[in-house]
Amino acid sequence: MQTPKALLLGKCPRCHTGDIFKYPIVGHVWQFNQMNTTCPHCDVRLEPEPGFYQGAMYVGYAFTVACIVLASFLLYFTNYTSEWVYIGVVIALLILFVPLNYRYSRIIYLYLFGGIKFDQHYSR
Ligand SMILES: [Zn+2]
Repeated sequence: MQTPKALLLGKCPRCHTGDIFKYPIVGHVWQFNQMNTTCPHCDVRLEPEPGFYQGAMYVGYAFTVACIVLASFLLYFTNYTSEWVYIGVVIALLILFVPLNYRYSRIIYLYLFGGIKFDQHYSR
């Protein structure tokens, strides 16, 4: 599996086979934050050091800003004049996308800074 596809599917950066999160997001929305401590396929530690994922909040912040900018542009061109519409829509979108934001900020942070390289030996 190619690295971008493995990243999008939330697979382990070393084997591209095991899941980083315990449950799929569809059907398990309330358990979106439960991660595997080790990869169920290749057994690599998915939290390289204690507190590793605190840095993922910077990726999540970037997602939040992108969501606000995108929603603002879309609302600007639909001629809504009330700022409360902007605020309401942005808050609703941010709450709606919390599971995706949480997961992809951690996945991207793990792929970028986790120090785990893809190894063909561990892939299926
Ligand atoms: Zn793995």
